[in-house]
Amino acid sequence: MAHPTTSYPNQSPWAIPVAQVGSRAGQSLEVDRDFPAPSGIGDEFFGVKEGSDIHVAARFDSIVDGLIFTATATARVQGECGRCLTPIDRDMTINLNTFMPYESAETQDRNSRSSKKHSGKNDEDVIIAGEEETEDISPLSAGGDFANIESLLRDNFTQEIPLTPLCREDCLGLCPQCGINLNEHPDHEHKTVDIRFSELADLKAKLERENGDA
Ligand SMILES: [Zn+2]
Ligand SMILES: [Zn+2]
Repeated sequence: MAHPTTSYPNQSPWAIPVAQVGSRAGQSLEVDRDFPAPSGIGDEFFGVKEGSDIHVAARFDSIVDGLIFTATATARVQGECGRCLTPIDRDMTINLNTFMPYESAETQDRNSRSSKKHSGKNDEDVIIAGEEETEDISPLSAGGDFANIESLLRDNFTQEIPLTPLCREDCLGLCPQCGINLNEHPDHEHKTVDIRFSELADLKAKLERENGDA
């Protein structure tokens, strides 16, 4: 059990001790508690505040070559509606279902060393390589004694964060002219059409005057 590159996985707030189920296949472990929200879920306009509580109700089932992790996770998402800027503060619940393979000591060693590797090709290749690397690393560390769910929570909540968060599906947004919230004033309108027609009317009158003078 000598893994000097694995730095005290039990000290991570996202590490769950699973050694008791990992010892042999056919066992299960249930976990039901809060974990701190990892950084990087959404942005300042809409996202999960780092360190806020994410409630996780999870179950580990051991099979021969790894653990099956099934969970429901609930986080508080905060931000503002992308159309009307109304503050949004609500729960988001996601389902997680993933397989965590046991890894040999060599694989773990290689993963921890290659985490900052650059392929040196074009930008696109570097990005793709980075994604593959994070997926390569099993959440199980210290020889399968701990399951770290930090990146599972981050990746899965990030996927659920909408590009344009809405206070409600049919949000009417703001009036493009004066900025009034159209959800609160559904009958609001401007006489914009009249203004345009009056300009045309002015022009018409002017042309007619000029023609008349000629
Ligand atoms: Zn809205
Ligand atoms: Zn208006």
